[in-house]
Amino acid sequence: MNILLLGAPGSGKGTQGLILSRALGLPKFATGDLLRNAVAAGLPLGLQAKALMDAGHLVGDDLILGIVRDELDKQGAPEGVIFDGVVRTIPQAVGLAEMLAERGARVDKVIFLDVDDAEVVARIERRRELEGRRDDDPATVATRLRNYREQTAPVLDWYEGHGGVVRIAATGSIEAIAAEILRAVEEQ
Ligand code: AMP
Repeated sequence: MNILLLGAPGSGKGTQGLILSRALGLPKFATGDLLRNAVAAGLPLGLQAKALMDAGHLVGDDLILGIVRDELDKQGAPEGVIFDGVVRTIPQAVGLAEMLAERGARVDKVIFLDVDDAEVVARIERRRELEGRRDDDPATVATRLRNYREQTAPVLDWYEGHGGVVRIAATGSIEAIAAEILRAVEEQ
């Protein structure tokens, strides 16, 4: 089962993706993690992406779709994948659908973690204190939220027209949100 997590920065995709990955025994794939690792390792991919990431902008669709293709090839034929923040534009949604179709698969469930801006800003501020992510400073967060609204929010409508979206009110305890996501995933 391929599950795609959508939501604003700080909506909990990483946290909930990890819980879901453990609960279902499926690998989690996050383009953000992969790009940060590439930056840390000084790989060409990281060098291409770093300035955009630091400024809070999205990395180009071709680069992202290249990463997704490599990852799908690497994984062979898994039972499914948890895609965490992998799709942030409509061309990426179209590209992922095509790549999965080539492999006889599809996105089976789209989960949207719905959190308002004030909560997102507060969560990211806490994360900055804990992890010190460069792109978690307030000015960059504002850019990331603007890019989210302009480029990623329309992806929800695209998925509404391609199989539907499960909307989860993602405020409250991590455990309660995880339980709700699991219920949604188990519902066929
Ligand atoms: P994240 O860890 O998911 O917040 O991602 C960190 C940064 O990586 C984002 O702000 C973007 O610059 C970049 N990024 C991650 N995934 C994508 C994607 N699917 N499309 C474009 N940029 C991405």
